[in-house]
Amino acid sequence: MKCYVISLGCPKNLVDTENILYSFSTQNIEFVYDPDKADILFVNTCAFIQKAIKESINTILEVAHNKKENQKLIVAGCLISRFKNQIESQIPEIDVFVDTNSANFVNLNKKFNYCDFAKPFEIEKRIVTTYPYAYLRISDGCHHNCSFCTIPQIRGPYRQKNPEYIKSEFIQLLEKGVREIILIAQDTSCYNNNNLSSLLKDLSKIEGNYWIRVLYLYPSSITDDLIDTIASTPRIVPYFDIPLQHVSDKILKLMQRNYDKKFICNLFDKLLKYDVAIRSTFIVGFPFEEEKDFNEILDFINNYRIDRLGAFEYSKEENTKSATYGNVVAYNTKRKRKALLLDTQKRLSKKNLERFIGKKLKVIIDGPKIARSFLDAPEIDGLVKLKRERQVGDFEDIVISKSSFYDLYE
Ligand code: SF4
Repeated sequence: MKCYVISLGCPKNLVDTENILYSFSTQNIEFVYDPDKADILFVNTCAFIQKAIKESINTILEVAHNKKENQKLIVAGCLISRFKNQIESQIPEIDVFVDTNSANFVNLNKKFNYCDFAKPFEIEKRIVTTYPYAYLRISDGCHHNCSFCTIPQIRGPYRQKNPEYIKSEFIQLLEKGVREIILIAQDTSCYNNNNLSSLLKDLSKIEGNYWIRVLYLYPSSITDDLIDTIASTPRIVPYFDIPLQHVSDKILKLMQRNYDKKFICNLFDKLLKYDVAIRSTFIVGFPFEEEKDFNEILDFINNYRIDRLGAFEYSKEENTKSATYGNVVAYNTKRKRKALLLDTQKRLSKKNLERFIGKKLKVIIDGPKIARSFLDAPEIDGLVKLKRERQVGDFEDIVISKSSFYDLYE
């Protein structure tokens, strides 16, 4: 049998897709790039916010519209976890439904493949699709209670993978030729009761030609030991991805984030003592956000260097606490604030990157003339553009000759 695959959403979803690809490969299913040649059409969806839901539904409808009589349509992922009943009644062309994380094995003869959150983690067997880097999930679910977030409903409560399993997957990825291993979870810093640093220290002792990057550090679980480990272990990229979401005390409280501005400033004072890259995301237009609250974000990024910044307009999601809040911010105001935040960051980013001109940076080669430095997680950050072709997967030291708003040039 042949299968055509579409994977939407974040790296966590991509790992689910890679698990499903492996499960298919054990059932003698091959992959094709042309949907017309497939027996199975597989879509892994995202449903984190309204924009993602829309994209997922449009993708399924398009695939369903072109589906032939002898083809099976399988839909997996967050959309199914959140809206199974509605999707089942509204898109009858779907033959198999797969919940998030039940994705270790998809039974094609069962209409519903649902996950049991109580099930302990197993070693994830995957087909890696992102060489020379790969994601490695260390936990799933979330025990935080952010008032805007649907993730705990979709992914369930926090549960973590046994460190021995992580180590074994890590070694398997290296054996497959992966050179950058990116640890992911909904919240990586709470691993082992806020002791992610011990896992990182163990992993970085494994022999091989690689580097480790960590994504999604929840601010209040970042310990001094973790800062020191990420900033000064040679095999770990000194890159801190810390989604702050806001800096105004009033909004952080409404968001039910368990830290305040004083805590954030303290954390950034410590981080910026090291030569590290910092990435963060902010939500603008949260209910009750006034001009002065938004301006606190602008002041913060003007005072504390953030190398990479993502901005989202607040999206009201069913069954979340913030959906019940009054004082919603007008659509146009949200758009304007997001544009202003991104414009401010663009100017700051240009200035920040100039500090690398004339310096030597270690990079990983992603494509013949495309590389990434410690500043750049794949897909979301900038790039280092090369003068001449290099071998994909190699590490090289490159002298930077110029910079633009987000990228560096050899
Ligand atoms: S920490 Fe992240 S995943 Fe968990 S509830 Fe908050 S926003 Fe959602």
